[in-house]
Amino acid sequence: MEDQAPPVTVRGAFGRRDPDARGYFGEFGGRFVPETLVAPIAELEAAYLDARSDPAFEQQFTSLLRHYVGRPTPLHEARRLASALGASRVLLKREDLAHTGAHKINNALGQGLLAVRMGKRRVVAETGAGQHGVATATVCALLGLACDVYMGVDDMARQALNVFRMRLLGARVHGVDAGSRTLKDAINEAMRDWVANVHDTHYLLGSALGPHPYPLMVREFQSVIGQEARAQCLAQYGRLPDAVVACVGGGSNALGLFDAFIDDSAVRLIGVEAGGEAIEAGRHAARFAGGSPGILQGTRTFVLQDDAGNIGATHSVSAGLDYAAIGPEHAWLRSSGRAEYAHVSDAQALEAFQWLARTEGIVPALESAHGIAHLRELARESSPPELVLVNLSGRGDKDVQAVERQLRPDAAGQEPSL
Ligand SMILES: *Cc1c(COP(=O)(O)O)cnc(C)c1O
Repeated sequence: MEDQAPPVTVRGAFGRRDPDARGYFGEFGGRFVPETLVAPIAELEAAYLDARSDPAFEQQFTSLLRHYVGRPTPLHEARRLASALGASRVLLKREDLAHTGAHKINNALGQGLLAVRMGKRRVVAETGAGQHGVATATVCALLGLACDVYMGVDDMARQALNVFRMRLLGARVHGVDAGSRTLKDAINEAMRDWVANVHDTHYLLGSALGPHPYPLMVREFQSVIGQEARAQCLAQYGRLPDAVVACVGGGSNALGLFDAFIDDSAVRLIGVEAGGEAIEAGRHAARFAGGSPGILQGTRTFVLQDDAGNIGATHSVSAGLDYAAIGPEHAWLRSSGRAEYAHVSDAQALEAFQWLARTEGIVPALESAHGIAHLRELARESSPPELVLVNLSGRGDKDVQAVERQLRPDAAGQEPSL
């Protein structure tokens, strides 16, 4: 095992809380990669550290975030939702209004610009439900990069519309017919492609996961969410929120929000995982409820696994939260006590999906609906937070058909029973 030095704090161009030099956040993170990836990852780390301290790079990124992605995204007070829940005040950070409909574009754009800076002309990416693939294909079209996306064949069948969107954007989509034929296998295949083509190819990883420097880099590209939200909250309400809440798949939208509030010790940081059908092996994706420390796809973190270390099957109604590992910085934030984690079930998320539509006229992504669902749990606490800020990580157009099927499993053609 490598060293377990505590993280050091470094002030970069737009970064503050870095892992140590070997990529560890406390005892989590690091870089567990085959020999063939050691040099490419070192090259990537050097290029990233150079870019983050270059004002010209930050200016380029910031300008595209503003004029292409549509930032800053608004902070909306959800008054009718709050009163329906018996909650105090609820603020929604509207990442659903970013271009392509979710926060994923922030990271895809940052890494796309980095790829260009490194002289790469091609990008590979993995995708589960297709959201990260669409964001990556979008950025590649914008920057004139070739784009190959790996996707499990089962996911391709489930997400045919996103496959078409990626192709429309000029990407090649490759079906992965190995293992569980879902995200984990697509990541392995994208890694293989990267190793073989690293001279001209960048691997654009979609969440705060994988070997160092990915968890750091992805968090930093997403940290614009929290920087904006903190400033907007102060400007609009004259105070900081009592709690900030975000759903956690790999953990990028949550870290992007939390990062700006880490030093505000009075602000509770709350991550919400997918509780699925039940907290039983194979029926959920709540790594902190059913997982243990282990290594998956290049990083040491909390993983759903059996006693022999075999990666467990996962389930969530929301594809973006359905993964066996959580980003290593979350494991560290939890072990240090700075952040707390909860999980909500598929049924609670489906209910929250409808609440938000009915009370605010906003159809959220099913991932984001997990964060909304947790508001009810918070409202039931003995001294509930008075001002809660929730990251609405994405819009729900992609989920409308799946929700319709869930709400009327046996009654095709009838009105959904709300
Ligand atoms: C992918 C996705 C997530 C989960 O990914 P994180 O890296 O945990 O943020 C959450 N919400 C939406 C809308 C997504 O598309």
